[in-house]
Amino acid sequence: MGILEKMRLDGKKAFVTGGARGIGKCVATALAEAGADIAIVDMDLPVAEETAKEIAAATGVKTIAVKTDVTSQSEVDAMIDTVLGSFGRIDIAFCNAGIALNVAAEEMTYEQWLKVINVNLNGVFLTAQAAGKVMIKQGGGSIINTASMSAHIVNVPQPQCAYNASKAGVIQLTKSLAVEWIDKNVRVNCISPGYIGTDLILSNEGLKPLIEKWNAMAPMGRMGKPEELQAIVVYLAGDCSTFTTGSDFVVDGAFTCI
Ligand code: NAD
Repeated sequence: MGILEKMRLDGKKAFVTGGARGIGKCVATALAEAGADIAIVDMDLPVAEETAKEIAAATGVKTIAVKTDVTSQSEVDAMIDTVLGSFGRIDIAFCNAGIALNVAAEEMTYEQWLKVINVNLNGVFLTAQAAGKVMIKQGGGSIINTASMSAHIVNVPQPQCAYNASKAGVIQLTKSLAVEWIDKNVRVNCISPGYIGTDLILSNEGLKPLIEKWNAMAPMGRMGKPEELQAIVVYLAGDCSTFTTGSDFVVDGAFTCI
């Protein structure tokens, strides 16, 4: 089988958290283009439904939208039941939902800290654990979590200690699950994107004015586009990456190199 055929995901079943927009939507589209049926999992049901329709129309795969808050164990469990009810199995889980909060450490309330850790780290644990249980029973699967270059560096000038800590946690969680599930044929990897032009930044009035400063620091002089994360996730999802587990893929245009 040639490498391009091997990259195909025909017949596989995937869910993408934070799939309504941004990186999640873009990666979900790529997984669908590669042939996987897709569950768009997001808190924002109307946009998730739009995205699911758009992807089905563009690619011909089966899609569903599932309203889920990844910080709620009961909602995550219900989401898994819904996906299994529609697709019968789960081969690929892209645990990607995340939020950013920019508050100086000395002013951050405990509630703000908890909110970020809950979505970005606890949410990834809950969704990866729930997917892992299904995959262990099935005999295998691939989990891809979204960390960030913020797990590796302290971004400036915006203060974001909870975000940075949550993303560092995602990498070590990813490695821990990969080792625990090595004999179960469940692979677990993560991606660490640099700045990517999505609503997370473009709809954040505090962050938008910083783009020029970040671009001046960036070796490529620009942010990344969500499309520039598609291929790495398709690779990790499928049968080209059977020796790849416990790895973190930094995709940042060399931002963290300098
Ligand atoms: P985005 O804001 O464009 O999209 C995030 C999506 O997640 C939204 O649709 C939102 O409704 C959903 N979401 C938020 N909280 C949720 C919850 N509790 N349960 C379910 N869904 C929830 O953001 P994005 O830029 O596409 O970010 C996706 C992931 O990539 C996040 O984990 C983010 O931290 C990470 N990331 C983003 C960048 C960047 O520069 N944009 C860089 C590195 C990492």
